[in-house]
Amino acid sequence: MNLENLPALVTGGGSGMGAVTARMLFGRGARVAVLDRDVDAARKTAQQIDGLALEADVSNAQSVEAALQQIVDKWGAPRVAVSCAGIAPASRIVGREGPHDLDLFQQVININLVGTFNVLRMCAARMAELEPLSESGSRGVIINTASVAAYEGQIGQAAYSSSKGGVVALTLPAARELSRFGIRVMTVAPGLIGTPMLLNMPNDVQNSLASQVPFPSRFGKPEEFADLVSHIIDNEMLNGEVIRLDGAIRLAPK
Ligand code: NAP
Repeated sequence: MNLENLPALVTGGGSGMGAVTARMLFGRGARVAVLDRDVDAARKTAQQIDGLALEADVSNAQSVEAALQQIVDKWGAPRVAVSCAGIAPASRIVGREGPHDLDLFQQVININLVGTFNVLRMCAARMAELEPLSESGSRGVIINTASVAAYEGQIGQAAYSSSKGGVVALTLPAARELSRFGIRVMTVAPGLIGTPMLLNMPNDVQNSLASQVPFPSRFGKPEEFADLVSHIIDNEMLNGEVIRLDGAIRLAPK
């Protein structure tokens, strides 16, 4: 897809994989909206790429609708939407302080799963009204971010794994349903990627985690995530699938 001057949206674009993806899209000529609940972080990314910083909570319908309206007013509806916003708090189902906090469980599902669906449904509705871009009738592509924790959740990841499992399960029905509009839906399931989410952990924990990656035995780079997103945008046959980006890691129970 030629992205020159096409509008694109990246959620969680203030940090980590979202920020690098926003820069990749700008490098390919897109007009990039950087959405994050941390508006200062969104502004920082947006300033580097002549982008549009948007403060929004992906789990809130009005908040995302208002953000999307700003993009539509400025550039038109996004042709590419990449969901990177997410949180990963750890908590045991039965911990020292009793059962898992239910509000925390609901918050993780709300941001990671409901938030991803919220962005998908609103972007799809706008994209469906656009003219097709190619002979095949393509109108755009929506790319979600799950995690290998959707498949091998570790102890303490009940909420996170449940939320990412939902994102995995959403991919095929969404792609099937949106195919009549020429909108593709794909999901990337990263393993261990060197972003603030992991790099804020103590060094020994980081080294132990990295050594569990069979090859290459290191954290993935956010640029490798952005490269895959870039390929998904270009390869029209990729649809309704989840791609692991993980150096063959299969997470142990803990
Ligand atoms: P990150 O650096 O923490 O960036 C995530 C961004 O999303 C942050 O700026 C965060 O703001 C924002 N955000 C959180 N909740 C939001 C909400 N409700 N509305 C809008 N923005 C929100 O994370 P990352 O490592 O790049 O991760 C990106 C995605 O990949 C996440 O979905 C994560 O679960 C997934 N993932 C990461 C890894 C990894 O190893 N890093 C592995 C597998 C999957 P705050 O800073 O305010 O929270």
